[in-house]
Amino acid sequence: MIYLDAAATTAVRREVLEAMWPHLTGEFGNPSSHHEVGERSARALADARASIADAFGVRSSEVVFTSGGTEADNLAILGITLASARGRHVVTSAVEHPAVLEAVDALVRLHGADSTIVGVDADGLVDPGEVAAAVRADTALVSIMAANNEVGTIQPVPAIAAALAGTGVPVHCDAVQAAGWLPIRLDELGADAVSISGHKLGAPKGIGALIVRGRVPLEPVIHGGGQERGRRSGTENVAGAVGLAVALRLAVEAGREHGARLAAARESFIAEVLATVPDAVLTGPREARLPGHASFLFPGTSGESVLLGLEARGIVCSSGSACAAGSDEPSDVLLAMGIAPEVAQTAVRFTFGSEVTADDLGRTAAELRDAVAAV
Ligand code: PLP
Repeated sequence: MIYLDAAATTAVRREVLEAMWPHLTGEFGNPSSHHEVGERSARALADARASIADAFGVRSSEVVFTSGGTEADNLAILGITLASARGRHVVTSAVEHPAVLEAVDALVRLHGADSTIVGVDADGLVDPGEVAAAVRADTALVSIMAANNEVGTIQPVPAIAAALAGTGVPVHCDAVQAAGWLPIRLDELGADAVSISGHKLGAPKGIGALIVRGRVPLEPVIHGGGQERGRRSGTENVAGAVGLAVALRLAVEAGREHGARLAAARESFIAEVLATVPDAVLTGPREARLPGHASFLFPGTSGESVLLGLEARGIVCSSGSACAAGSDEPSDVLLAMGIAPEVAQTAVRFTFGSEVTADDLGRTAAELRDAVAAV
């Protein structure tokens, strides 16, 4: 099987599992316990936190472990807005993940908040000027993703942060797809809060983090025993945190070199598909996209049928985001980019990490031509 759905999830890396193993077996203590067994777990958690803080250029106290990207996004959106002294207006974009857009919707429905959803251009790009123009005296938060999961578009987050400089409005950035490939340090992004998720990086499902500047007030979303400095209660997933730290370190170390190689492989794949599959259209920009991300429209087909055809040929990919899988609705991201609903339904997404080979991508392009012709 050729697995080209890395944006949905990745396998746990061997080094990650090996680092986690002791904390799933002998070192099983609760990090809040005041005995030797608990204290060893607390030290492992502190080491993982320090390593993640280092990757983001922040203090350890600015790392909040969560159950994944969705929870990190919810904590940022709800937590920062509800704690804001400015008001309850949120600015975000039409191409955000549902973890952001649904959290904003919950704020509006349940907490009397107001939102401005800025649009995107045909490449899925947000305009920094439009974001800045949407900010008001009562704006509590601006949330713009680092890179899009469906079309791979890299958003100009540093330019957006620069456009907001001096306004005092915190910027949250969903870097779930970007971590390991793009700069994620808070000072490079210009962000005050960043979400990441372990299972997109070679760590397991069920661990993530919100990196949030200590100066940004944060209301907890999950209440309880006061773990994570009161910002996220619940006994910490120590093994998951250890795994996330290792996965992030490996991804950041390898990211630049692998990213360049992957972007070259992606470019050959895109060129091959556009040259050989009649009427194929690339979605998102040709260059300002994630290195391991190629997404297309095949007008006149159905994305689901192409997907099934590829699967029958041993290639696994996706028709859009895994979160929207099973829904017949055209993708909101593609609609926001101005693509007609019947064309949006022909979308197919190929996403891959550094383990992909040129042979895998070459074979996929050839099989894709046959799968599209057979629909
Ligand atoms: N944000 C983005 C951009 C994503 O792609 C995803 C998952 O696909 C999430 C958030 C949610 O992350 P998780 O699956 O860890 O809840």
